Amino acid sequence: MPQLLNVDAALAQILADMQPLGSESVALAESLGRVIATDIAAPLDLPPFDNSAMDGYAIHHADSLSASPQQPATLHVTQDISAGDSPTDTLQPGQAARIMTGAPIPVGCSAVAPVEDTDDNWRKASGTAPPEEVRIYSRYGYGANIRRKGENIAFGATIMGAGTIIQPAEMGMLAAIGCARFEVLRKPKVVILGSGDELVDVHETLSAGKIRDTNSYTLAGLIRQAGGIPIRLPIARDKLSEIRALYSRALGINPDMIISSAGVSVGAADLVREVMDELGDIDFWRINMRPGKPLAYGALQGIPFFGLPGNPVSTMVTFEVLVRPALAKLAGRALRRRTIQATTADDLRSDGRRSYNRVRLSREGGAVVARSTGSQSSGALMSMLLADGLAIIPEGQRFVPAGSELPVLLLRPLE
Ligand code: AMP
Ligand code: MG
Repeated sequence: MPQLLNVDAALAQILADMQPLGSESVALAESLGRVIATDIAAPLDLPPFDNSAMDGYAIHHADSLSASPQQPATLHVTQDISAGDSPTDTLQPGQAARIMTGAPIPVGCSAVAPVEDTDDNWRKASGTAPPEEVRIYSRYGYGANIRRKGENIAFGATIMGAGTIIQPAEMGMLAAIGCARFEVLRKPKVVILGSGDELVDVHETLSAGKIRDTNSYTLAGLIRQAGGIPIRLPIARDKLSEIRALYSRALGINPDMIISSAGVSVGAADLVREVMDELGDIDFWRINMRPGKPLAYGALQGIPFFGLPGNPVSTMVTFEVLVRPALAKLAGRALRRRTIQATTADDLRSDGRRSYNRVRLSREGGAVVARSTGSQSSGALMSMLLADGLAIIPEGQRFVPAGSELPVLLLRPLE
């Protein structure tokens, strides 16, 4: 029997082959979740001008230095400045300007007294002219309640590095610096293939001996979740001409990756192997993992190709372990899946291969406890619906008694 390939060695080879994709331009409003392709520097100061942090009165701070509720400073109101205004008059000692939050401070102003701290309360009478005089009840230091030009971001500073994933805050910052379009990494376009005389699509009725194709849907979801664009092609019959036609159609799309499921185990599925051999440079791997021993990997006319096993759970688990990291590298993303340590609640068994057991996780008294989701048959998709993670039994170990510590690859965030 040929030597089984170690999972880590397989992944290392796959990752070495993946070249990050190029970039494309995206509109700001469409950019959520995309990956920035280049460092972005501020083309201006933020805020772009000194402005008031409060609704109140712009003053010379020195005029307030002996102010108190008993002995307020009385100032002469000479200006009324709203947000969006561009004041030109200099504020002289003894003067105050009524000012709104975000409005530019006038030349000469060295502090803003909040309106709550004055004898004015124009918010009760909005639209009214400012009073002729205002009394200030506290003292203010130099610069109080003034947001200085460039205090958030200085001109030329790097705001976000290449590889940043755009979240709502990044969108706001890009708007602030006037970035309406910018370069993001391309999303990998991934074609999904499948074949089998037994398979029908979701809207078709089942006749004797048939089952519905589930892999093209799980794969489409996994690809989209990993930041790719899935393209599902119809399932081919187990006929050389149909499989050939399907593969050439896939290549015609010029995708960044092709993923097929089924047809890589030894036996009746040799047709798919034959086509893979015709079209590309494919290795048929027997990987030391469970589920998912048979797997084809290589390139079809230069396009990265994965031939995943057909059993629905095997398809998903091999995607998680080998394809998701590859897609992340193509898309220039950090891999989001984490591995944590958990305590097993059940006895777990393996056959000596590295085993990925579907488990449910719960926090119990400071520890994370992993419970099996039931049947671990590679055809039992229910085990994936229930799973929070994949508990990894190392190679060589056939029995893991309850109460052991195992690494768990998280499939969803732990509550
Ligand atoms: P194969 O590799 O073609 O021998 O397939 C292995 C197992 O996976 C068989 O039980 C197939 O019926 C099943 N299978 C293959 N492709 C799919 C699919 N697209 N959806 C659901 N099950 C599949
Ligand atoms: Mg088949």
